Amino acid sequence: MGGHEPTYFLRARYIRAVEELGGIPLILPLVAEPSARRRLLDSVDGLLITGSGPDLPPRLYGERQRYKFRLVSERRANFELELVHQAKKRNLPLLGICGGMQTVNVACGGSLYQDIPAQVPGALDHRQKAKAVYVTHPVTVAPKSLLNKVVARKKLMVNSSHHQSVKTVAPSLQASAVAPDGIIEAIESPAHRFLLAIQWHPEFLFERYAVHRRLFEALLHAARRARA
Ligand code: MN
Repeated sequence: MGGHEPTYFLRARYIRAVEELGGIPLILPLVAEPSARRRLLDSVDGLLITGSGPDLPPRLYGERQRYKFRLVSERRANFELELVHQAKKRNLPLLGICGGMQTVNVACGGSLYQDIPAQVPGALDHRQKAKAVYVTHPVTVAPKSLLNKVVARKKLMVNSSHHQSVKTVAPSLQASAVAPDGIIEAIESPAHRFLLAIQWHPEFLFERYAVHRRLFEALLHAARRARA
């Protein structure tokens, strides 16, 4: 059904994570009108920017596309970059996941590896063969970071389903987790109440691993505080 018509698609496990952990999930449509965007944001207490198959257009971080990959729609890229700007401006809690982390970094002026296997010799396999409910590589968590506060661990195992990643961290952000091959797996803003983005997929892990559940719980906790 639908053919090649533009269609909204979101894995239900994102909704389930938010709902089961006590939040009220709301899917935001990609409206273009600035006042409509503001009205939408007025009605939420926090933001979860999810991953998507396709990648951001490299011109958004000043590069031409050097490898073959599908691009997200202009509309989605534009909308999500604006969400990040608004979240910063409003100090609205934000959790970015996978492509959502890449969006956070680019929105703040950072850049991306367009293709890890092509650009990072000796990198781990960040597109694991195992199902996403299994963890396959470790990350080291930066001491005293927001992420460290959330997971209360120096190291944790994560799943991995990405071929791009943060190259230069945006000036206003800090790396807060790194894989053994140097690939940055989490970034955050020290200047905001809760602005955290991770490269792995806790929506596949929250049911089995308390440590990954805490990422959603921390977002929801920050959202409740923002509302109060
Ligand atoms: Mn990875």
